[in-house]
This record gives sequence, C-alpha cells and structure tokens, in this order.
Amino acid sequence: MSEASDLTAQCVGVLERLGVARPLFTGGARAAASPITGETVAGVHDASPARAAAAIEAAHGAFLSWRGVPAPRRGELVRLLGETLRHAKADLGMLVTLEAGKTLSEGLGEVQEMIDICDYAVGLSRQLFGLSIATERPDHRMAETWRPLGVVGVITAFNFPVAVWAWNAALALVCGDPVVWKPSEKTPLTALAVQALFERAADGFAGAPAHLSTVLIGDRTVGEALARHPLVPLVSATGSTAMGRAVAPLLASRFARALLELGGNNAAIVCPSADLDLTLRAVAFAAMGTAGQRCTSLRRLFVHQSIHADFVARLKAAYASVEVGDPRDPRTLVGPLIDARAFEAMAAALDEARADGGQVTGGDRVPGPGEGVYVRPAIVELKAQSAVVRRETFAPILYVIPYTDLPGAIAMNNDVAQGLSSSIFTNDVREAERFCSPEGSDCGIVNVNIGPSGAEIGGAFGGEKETGGGREAGSDSWRAYMRRATNTVNYGSTLPLAQGVKFEI
Ligand code: NAD
Repeated sequence: MSEASDLTAQCVGVLERLGVARPLFTGGARAAASPITGETVAGVHDASPARAAAAIEAAHGAFLSWRGVPAPRRGELVRLLGETLRHAKADLGMLVTLEAGKTLSEGLGEVQEMIDICDYAVGLSRQLFGLSIATERPDHRMAETWRPLGVVGVITAFNFPVAVWAWNAALALVCGDPVVWKPSEKTPLTALAVQALFERAADGFAGAPAHLSTVLIGDRTVGEALARHPLVPLVSATGSTAMGRAVAPLLASRFARALLELGGNNAAIVCPSADLDLTLRAVAFAAMGTAGQRCTSLRRLFVHQSIHADFVARLKAAYASVEVGDPRDPRTLVGPLIDARAFEAMAAALDEARADGGQVTGGDRVPGPGEGVYVRPAIVELKAQSAVVRRETFAPILYVIPYTDLPGAIAMNNDVAQGLSSSIFTNDVREAERFCSPEGSDCGIVNVNIGPSGAEIGGAFGGEKETGGGREAGSDSWRAYMRRATNTVNYGSTLPLAQGVKFEI
C-alpha cells in the first residue's frame, strides 16, 4: 500500500470511529483533501440553496421549543457534549491533523479548547443574569432580562476547523439558540465528525428537539444564504477581512447582528530588559506554530536596536532548528501549508519584501510526503514597515524591524488596519503598563511576556478595526447570543408616567 492510500485509510478509519456515516463522505462532488500529502481523501456533498433554507427553517422550529427549556437544563446538553468530546478527543484531534495539517499536539489542543468551552458554558447556564435598576416611579420595579435570540449562523475558517464552532455553539445552546454551521470548504470532514458527536450527545438528553445543530457543507454561497435568511438574527463569521466585507453588508441590510472575527496582523515588541530566553520561545511558537496559519500568529516583531543583532541571530538559529514535516510525527513543530495557493501568496509576499529592501532567511520549499506543501518559515529583516508588512499574508513570515523608543514601537504596532493581538516583552513595569494603557496597543488582545497566539477561553476573544470588533468565548461574550429585555413592572394601583408627564382622561 502506498503512503498516500495509507493516509486515506487512516482518515476513513477515524471518521468511522467518530460515527460519521459512510454515505456522508463518499460519492459527493466536493473533494476533501489532506494537506499532509495533498491527496483527496473523501468526496462530500454540498448543501443546495433549497437544503440550506429548509435547514434554517427547521432550526427555527427547534428554537421555538428550545427557548422554553430552562437554561441550566440546556446546560446539561452542553455538559453531555463536553463528555462526548472527552471520549473522542484522540480521534477528533487526529482528524484535525489529517484535514487541517496541524501538528497532533495542536489538533488535540483544539479539541481540548472545545471541552473547555463546554465546561465554561455549563457554568454559564446558571449565570445568564441581568441587572436590577432603580426606577423613578413609586411601586415599580425595573430589571433587565436576557432571552434567547433565535437561530445562530456560524461561518468558520479552515485553520480552527472545530474550536470556533464550539466557542459559538456551546454558548448559543445554553443561551437557547440552535446553530446552523457553514464550515470552511477546506475542512468539511471535521465538521461532519463534530455533527456526529453532537448527535451522540443529544441522543443521551431527554427532550432535545431535532435540528438544534446542523452542518451545511459548501462554499461561500452557503454562507451567503445564512447571511441573507430572515430567520437568522445573528451570524458569527470567522475568516478573512474580505469575507467580512461581503457578509457584513448583507446582515446590516436586514438589521441582523454580525459577530465578526476577521484577519489579524499581530505584533510583538522586545524591549532591552526582556528575558530573552523566554522571549525567544514565545516568539518562535507564535510565529511558526500552526505554520503561521493562526489569526493570532505573530507577523511583526519590533526589537530594540540595542539587542536587535543578538536577538535576530538567536532567532535565526531557532528557525533553522525546527523540524518541518508530517504533522503526525511527534518531532514535527511545523506542518504543511493548507494548499499550493498559500505558498504562492507566501512567495509573492517575500518577493515584495525583497523589493522593499528586506533580507529574507528561509521561505523555501522543504520536501515532505506526497504533494504536501512544506516550507521553512521565513524571517524578513526590514528597516521600516512597508505595504507588504501591513497586509496579512496567511503563512509563516515574520517581519523583524528595529526600534529606538517605545512610543515609536507602539505607533508601529498600531499602524496597520487590523487590530487582533499584540504583545510586549519587558521586565520594566512602566513599559508593560504603557503598552496596556489607553496610549498603548489598540488591539483586542494585549499581552505582557507571552506571545500573541494561544488565547484561553475565559477571556473575550476578538479584535478591533478590520478584525471586525466581534468577541467570542469568555467574559460577557454570551450577551451577543441573547436578546436583552428591559422589564418595568407596576405593582401599585396608580399610573405615574415617566418624566412627570401628565395624561388624565
Ligand atoms: P476565508 O475568508 O477564505 O473563509 C472563511 C469562511 O468564510 C469559509 O467558510 C468561507 O467559505 C466563507 N466565506 C468566504 N467568503 C464568503 C462570503 N462572501 N460570504 C459568506 N461566506 C464566505 O478564510 P480562510 O482562508 O478559511 O481563513 C483564514 C482567514 O481567517 C485569515 O484571514 C485569518 O486571520 C482569519 N481567521 C480569523 C480568526 C479570528 O478569530 N479573528 C480566526 C481564524 C481565522
């Protein structure tokens, strides 16, 4: 048996163990490929526009009964989902590796993130509370309550093929909302597996209505169907800024909510007082992890001129030492790019950087299994930010630029259209606090002495400016999935009007 067909057999075995029925991944017109070898491992079936509309209507039917189930009881379903994921972690983590090319440790980490958000949502199901508010009228009570919203449409990117669904679905379900999911066309198999696991969990829950969770395989036209449908009051869309620019106006035109998680262009500042051993590891993981294909990947590094030469030399040595190859091999730290187009974009960005005077180390193809696209991550030394640095290229390229003073470095951090994640490495409390202050980083994620990637689910996740402004996961992100009602109750026998208005009849 060849290496290629071994991989297909491995995929099929994992899908079957996860409970995905064979007809769902065989015979369909859409080829599902593995970036490990580039080979087609399955053929999945796209949802037609009629199927998408029917699925949304069925989910709305589920909403009408699910909204009446007490929230802590809804939490019980999410608890079962978390338990199901715990049992399936090894297989689902491997499927993430096979389909998205992440290292196995990252694939398992992604499933752990699903489990964590389920645990979080179970607790949240008893904490969907509002405020009690002072009223100016006697014998009145005013309070705000949070009510289920309706069907939540979820559009996801290839690079977090399962965790982003869970961030949305776990919260939406406890908030009383069914979910209709349009996964990336590059990662349909993990989506089918997650749906099978959801159904397994729902089977153990008495009284779960059908159609609480639905997967619609397909390209952007299926995403547009979600964005256009009047029975979808919220679409949570994760992907490129170009996608957000297309989806947001569709939602705005019908006054639906948009929760946008779009492209990032994340930076870190390395100050003279930084612990350089810690910084080196943090920078290397943030820039090369997931082969530079995270929304939070480190793309821009500003190093103080006094330590620039030394630090860049150490960074180059670290880059040369990492193992690039098959992500199933535990020694591998950098797996494949998702496809050949990703490498073309990387090569074009490196050419542009060279034309800007950049000195490029790495960025060349590395042999790997089959037709997989493997590259050595690139470091580009530049004197200043140019247009290519200000763009997000979804590949392992780290632009390194020296700085002289912290305000200048913070200005460079903020001088891009995106605003997702940022870090400073320093042992100087004034520098750290300045970076976190109103005059500091303008991003949604602002870190000290850790890299910009690898967020925990307890915090609200998301970014500003062209990253879209959405927030998912922890803190009060749940509020996006609910309708706020202000309730004023008169328990007296007179009718005083607000603002002292008189209206006697
Ligand atoms: P992409 O924009 O090509 O696709 C993302 C999803 O949007 C896919 O499901 C795709 O089918 C869908 N889509 C694309 N155009 C659409 C349209 N016009 N209408 C409706 N749906 C549409 O992104 P990708 O290549 O899969 O992922 C990489 C991008 O995602 C990067 O820019 C990365 O920074 C971003 N990303 C952001 C976050 C975040 O949380 N901010 C997380 C992961 C990825």
